[in-house]
Amino acid sequence: MSHTVYIGIGSNIGDREKYLQQALVQLNKHEEVSVTNISSIYETDPVGYTNQAAFLNMAAELKTELPPLELLNVLQKIEHHLNRKREIHWGPRTIDLDILLYNDENIESEKLKIPHPHMYERAFVLIPLYEVNSNLILKTVNQPIGEIITELPDKEGVRLWKKNNGVGEFGLLES
Ligand code: ATP
Ligand code: CA
Ligand code: CA
Repeated sequence: MSHTVYIGIGSNIGDREKYLQQALVQLNKHEEVSVTNISSIYETDPVGYTNQAAFLNMAAELKTELPPLELLNVLQKIEHHLNRKREIHWGPRTIDLDILLYNDENIESEKLKIPHPHMYERAFVLIPLYEVNSNLILKTVNQPIGEIITELPDKEGVRLWKKNNGVGEFGLLES
């Protein structure tokens, strides 16, 4: 499992926690992906398109053999399984799986941009990510993640919803 990847996960339709959990279970089931760390779950006010329900957001660390585009493919298949529909841009969704970081790589293609281009301004991404790995240095802005969070406005829109008491809570060890 050679590549270290961080992903952001969000849901704001239906049984939001179940969707997060299902996404993690399905990811971990993939032979070439293992989920190695997860954040707590945060409830967050919608950003961008604000006329929609609050989100649950979390972050996870993965180890994988898959190259970036293949990993994106796996994430999109899981979104599809979990009934993700693409309607309003930044609108309501059962599940959203974004690749935030893939090793230290920079990728700029139409299908895939890494680091995720909006992550630096999103408290709902950075706060869970900090919990997964507080030592990350975000190369594009050349700043430690904790410092970026300190400087971010709108952090009160991100509230701890369910504390992570260990991987088992999310059913990751279930078959
Ligand atoms: P945002 O990307 O601003 O968070 P979104 O998650 O709502 O918005 P989607 O509709 O889920 O956007 O994705 C649109 C497209 O973004 C996907 O089809 C995918 O090809 C592309 N994409 C580019 N970079 C990434 C990335 N790092 N992770 C996931 N998808 C990405
Ligand atoms: Ca997103
Ligand atoms: Ca997405």
